[in-house]
Amino acid sequence: MWTRSGYHEGNKMAKKEKYLETNLKQFGDPILREKSKNIEHSNDLYETVQKMTKIVKDLNASGLAAPQIGILRRIIVFRFERKTHVLINPEITWKSEDMIEGPEGCLSLSGIWTMVNRFSKIVVQGRNLDGDLIKLELEGENARIIQHEIDHLDGITIYNRVPKEYRKEILYKLGKIG
Ligand SMILES: [Zn+2]
Repeated sequence: MWTRSGYHEGNKMAKKEKYLETNLKQFGDPILREKSKNIEHSNDLYETVQKMTKIVKDLNASGLAAPQIGILRRIIVFRFERKTHVLINPEITWKSEDMIEGPEGCLSLSGIWTMVNRFSKIVVQGRNLDGDLIKLELEGENARIIQHEIDHLDGITIYNRVPKEYRKEILYKLGKIG
């Protein structure tokens, strides 16, 4: 996921687009609609996590999910205050009743910005690369990033999260319809 500040900072758009095409699965690829599997053994995750971390940093993004690089495993990498973290088998164990709307960009839907409703506060838990249990209480933008990335693990993108009347516009902007 991109937040607006992250997107505008850093690399030039043209460079980003080329990078996205070569490194990341783009909207329309059926893999982005599939559900990722839980990870039982974390032996060979290091390389995948390294690759994901590099992409997040290169693009000044806020988060990335493994299906976006073609791996249907439950791994998300995200940045909070410029520090990169990983969660394996992340699960939202609590969410607030109230939701809040905010802008989101996705590395798999290049150039699209849309308002998405998310729970304003969540508790998420998962494991790090060492297998330690990590539990995070999050709100605002950080809670939004995690919800966006976990959606990818369930085959859901921001396209599915916007009201139907806006979906045509997204398809048009992505060049999927004339
Ligand atoms: Zn995304």
